[in-house]
Amino acid sequence: MPIATVNPANGETLKTFDALGAAEIERRLAAADTTFREYRTTGFGERARLLNRAADLLDEDQQDIARTMTTEMGKPVKAARAEAAKCAKAMRWYADAAEELLADEHPSAGDVGDAGASRAYVHYRPLGPVLAVMPWNFPLWQVVRFAAPALMAGNVGLLKHASNVPQTALYLEDLFRRAGFPAGCFQTLLVGSGAVESILRDPRVVAATLTGSEPAGRAVAAIAGDEVKHTVLELGGSDPFLVLPSADVRQAARTAVTARVQNNGQSCIAAKRFIVHTDVYDEFAEEFTAGMRALKVGDPQQESTDIGPLASEQGRTDIEELVDDAVRQGATVLCGGSRPTGLGARLDRGWFYAPTVLSAITPAMRIHREETFGPVATLYRAADLGEAVALANDTPFGLSSNVWTRDADESRQCVRDLQAGGVFFNGMTASHPALPFGGVKRSGYGRELAGHGIREFCNATTVWYG
Ligand code: NDP
Repeated sequence: MPIATVNPANGETLKTFDALGAAEIERRLAAADTTFREYRTTGFGERARLLNRAADLLDEDQQDIARTMTTEMGKPVKAARAEAAKCAKAMRWYADAAEELLADEHPSAGDVGDAGASRAYVHYRPLGPVLAVMPWNFPLWQVVRFAAPALMAGNVGLLKHASNVPQTALYLEDLFRRAGFPAGCFQTLLVGSGAVESILRDPRVVAATLTGSEPAGRAVAAIAGDEVKHTVLELGGSDPFLVLPSADVRQAARTAVTARVQNNGQSCIAAKRFIVHTDVYDEFAEEFTAGMRALKVGDPQQESTDIGPLASEQGRTDIEELVDDAVRQGATVLCGGSRPTGLGARLDRGWFYAPTVLSAITPAMRIHREETFGPVATLYRAADLGEAVALANDTPFGLSSNVWTRDADESRQCVRDLQAGGVFFNGMTASHPALPFGGVKRSGYGRELAGHGIREFCNATTVWYG
């Protein structure tokens, strides 16, 4: 894949970049290593000062970086601005919270005495340079949710961003540098995925985090496993969205539209499978389909646009193949099911796909088991909660889940039984700095955000005094 900015709204190549050569990669790895030796000794106050400065700069740059993201990967510009704002907020949250999240942990005096110690505690130390292999779908947020805790913990970051968002990748390096972080603290490596193996095997790189597809995660985790290096993987999702009879069905349907099409449908935590109790199925299906049909598809740089193009031609082909396979096997198209028409000559070569709702899904269809990374929803009818939970769990993924109910027993049962890293009631899944984020099953392992996220790349050191 070339490293280039290609506008997905019209297929035009705007800028191409040469991949870094071996000598430049070596220079950057050496800088990361040297910088870490110094940076690890800085205090939380100093790190917080730098990170807060980065947040202020990001707020100042919000309009420009939002336009860049939209140009590179096609998300509606209003969503791009919201993403930038969310990143600044997360930086401030970690700047404020890190010291407490990484405070020494003291077991009770009695337990320590039993261990033969006069005093013992856990002390969190940074690990070193961490490689972040990141995707294009939230090109700022995916990076910041790694970088903010990593930098506050005293680690340094090496970013291998997706090849289609090079300008956003370079912006991030520049942002941290302008904020005052030493040059080796956060570096962007403009390289293709083929260069990841040698970088990860380098002894100066101590761990890796990857957000992206299952094949990419498997490849990186295999190398890291071979090198005995820690990894965090945040892979795909096919989150269920359960609607039960006690729910506010209209509100559920409205939220369902946003939950499915946020980021042009290209979000790991988007709700993708809508599993509705038979008593409220018809009402939900009607409201939801009407909401999907009403969305405005068009130029993502326009404020009024709800849905822009998919980020790549391949991404649209993947979606078309999933929908066509389902339709061939008997799925019903309630809306969409094809490329949109009437967008005008300027956007005709863009990689758009119409918001789509499919029903009558069967397990034989690829769409039942694979991740739909685009604005396509599948609708399922369930006879009762047991069947709804069984359908929800009938997926290789386990990132998050959504449940609409006002019944306390049903809620408890869902928390107990849904195989996912999150259960969100009467609302849609969203990430927040104060709450851990990650999945089970093929959605990956480890956690980002909150205390769990910052401790992933720390050495929890036992300190013992006799
Ligand atoms: P990828 O997983 O291929 O890309 C994500 C990152 O991993 C990019 O930086 C990519 O680099 C890198 N990468 C890819 N393959 C390897 C490898 N073998 N070794 C090391 N690094 C690698 O995502 P795609 O863009 O191809 O999207 C494909 C599908 O992945 C989507 O349709 C969706 O299902 C899923 N996905 C999930 C995301 C999520 O948020 N969980 C985000 C993006 C995709 P490069 O760009 O240079 O190839």
